[in-house]
Amino acid sequence: MMKMDDRVLEIRKDFPVLNRVVHDGKPLVYLDNAATSQKPASVIQAISDYYSGYNANVHRGIHQLSLEASLAYEEAHQKVADFIHARGMQEVVFTKNTTEAANVVATGWGRRHLKKGDEVVLTQMEHHSNFVPWWWLERQVGIVRKYIEVDDQGLLKMEQVDDLITDKTKLVTVSAMSNVLGTINPVKEIGEAAHDHGAVFMVDGAQSVPHTPVDVRDIGCDFLLFSGHKMLGPTGIGVLYGREEVLEETDPLIFGGEMIKRVTFDEVRFNDLPWRFEGGTPVIAQGIGLSAAVDYLNGLGMDWVARHERALVTYALERLEEFPNLTIYGPPAHQRGGVVSFNHETIHAHDLSTLLDMEGVAVRAGHHCAQPLMELLQVPATTRASFYIYNTPDEVDALVAALKKAEEVFA
Ligand code: PMP
Repeated sequence: MMKMDDRVLEIRKDFPVLNRVVHDGKPLVYLDNAATSQKPASVIQAISDYYSGYNANVHRGIHQLSLEASLAYEEAHQKVADFIHARGMQEVVFTKNTTEAANVVATGWGRRHLKKGDEVVLTQMEHHSNFVPWWWLERQVGIVRKYIEVDDQGLLKMEQVDDLITDKTKLVTVSAMSNVLGTINPVKEIGEAAHDHGAVFMVDGAQSVPHTPVDVRDIGCDFLLFSGHKMLGPTGIGVLYGREEVLEETDPLIFGGEMIKRVTFDEVRFNDLPWRFEGGTPVIAQGIGLSAAVDYLNGLGMDWVARHERALVTYALERLEEFPNLTIYGPPAHQRGGVVSFNHETIHAHDLSTLLDMEGVAVRAGHHCAQPLMELLQVPATTRASFYIYNTPDEVDALVAALKKAEEVFA
């Protein structure tokens, strides 16, 4: 038995949706956090306060509401910058999500700097959002994609790094944590290899920023991408961190209002960083919501968040060993975040997740937007449980009980 951390019971009170019951009175056991997290009342309140108290467009119109909204929106950038230890808010661009951020890099940086034959190094465990934009660039520009392979344990074959990253490599992009295997990748080491060869280094932080302390200066990355909705914030906001010098060398994706300083019939002068990348009315309410989410996470401390999830995943892996018919993917607990993917020998992933749902346990089944990795694992889908700050050991037990029931149904 794992001991319950009393702090988690307090945290749970901050999340209204956790009071939900599903399927005729079963308490909700929400284990789909890698897809999106739940939202604390403070985030919901911050968004509501904006709309009911100072709703206005930002960066234009000298009236009080607009000034208040502009201030809150800028403060949101600064708060995110501090959260990831950027040098300042000029390095923090708000996008729609991680996917859009990846497209800004592939198009805005890639189209400008990459030519036929230039190599981009990825890993076999990338999410489609860090896969498809590079595939598209291959079609458009003729870049060559190379992959760091994944071994049987779900770890990157680091011995390949020296062979794959060469002077032909112009960009290296790696997910800090796999959304399928839970593997935590040695991004700093890979980044050093990239920089040794003068390549730009990008990190997909969609699964790391919400769950572990992240310091872009320590990692040494040039770009870092993540999504607000996976870290207690609202949907509709993602972050593209770009080291200032690299961002200056990146073209915007969206052209129009807000991203300019001056427009004449013949000439356009772009706005300063980061606004140059936020064309049109930006994601104001979402930014304010994300700001409140960062406050909440700072209140907990990211070290605590990482420790809590590590404890839960350790316990989950231990308990799942009770099922001889389960194949569990990914490395041992000390090398992973709070994600466990598995398959049952006789029950299909989708059937399994449906049966778990009937018991109130919300997990995800599918390819998790990582079909190349599924190809490698030789499965069409997995069932995935993923944890966050409000999950408890009791909920791991609930998952185990629901799995036992599913096996009975299929026996
Ligand atoms: N990368 C990883 C590792 C992810 O887990 C996800 C979301 N599942 C994404 C990128 C894409 O995030 P979004 O859908 O918010 O753009």
